[in-house]
Amino acid sequence: MIIIPLGTNGFFPSFSRHTACYVIPYKKTLIILDAGSGLFRFAEPEAKKLLKSVDHIDLFLSHYHLDHTFGFYAVFNLFKGKKVTVYGMEERKIFKELMKMNSFPVNYDKVFSNFSWKKLDKEQKVGDYIVKTRKQYHRGEGSLGLRFEFPDKKILSYITDSEPNEESIRFVKGSNLLLHEHEMILKEKEEKMKKLEDFISNGHVTTKGAALIAKEAGVKKLVLIHNNPFAPDEKLESASALASSIFKESHLARDLHPIIF
Ligand SMILES: [Zn+2]
Ligand SMILES: [Zn+2]
Repeated sequence: MIIIPLGTNGFFPSFSRHTACYVIPYKKTLIILDAGSGLFRFAEPEAKKLLKSVDHIDLFLSHYHLDHTFGFYAVFNLFKGKKVTVYGMEERKIFKELMKMNSFPVNYDKVFSNFSWKKLDKEQKVGDYIVKTRKQYHRGEGSLGLRFEFPDKKILSYITDSEPNEESIRFVKGSNLLLHEHEMILKEKEEKMKKLEDFISNGHVTTKGAALIAKEAGVKKLVLIHNNPFAPDEKLESASALASSIFKESHLARDLHPIIF
């Protein structure tokens, strides 16, 4: 299977990197993780061609912060004619509130008439694959960790805007691929962190924290996501090297570079 990152940044787009959006072509469906500005790439040829052979889109949201939902500004236009199901913490019509503020100039119910909105439970079957969720503490508003189990036994876990703890390790155990956020912090600061729970900064798991979780959980491959928008690529590479020193199979997510799992 492959997953194509359309946006690997957290917070805001920079250095040719968009914010959170990942796409998995799966049979007649596109599975999409988060709807950050990376979703706008569906206007460009590389992502647009993925839409050609699918009739359905399953879009999963970790939470509703803008770096994970800003794609909704154009999504109704990009996914015209497709049946779209949006899964999240609640049955929430994303951006609907902006209409009342006159900040989103569309006839919402009309342009989103091909969309349906579903609340995620702890475990559910979507098509022929299983989706499990874990409630994460994230700046009080919370977020969902997502785990996908496919019929061919492949497991993909998507953990972002999260917290480092034993429960998270258990949740991602045995994944073929773990996409995990990493917050880059000063070396001296991270060196003082001892317990797993310490490896957090600004509501995000640090780079070392992500590597420790991958190692403890025995995943096959870790790909670091939610890149720091202030960091040029070279700096991100050094974060990836730091993760590799703890967990060998650590890699860095790059926009439009497919990951095989
Ligand atoms: Zn975020
Ligand atoms: Zn967030």
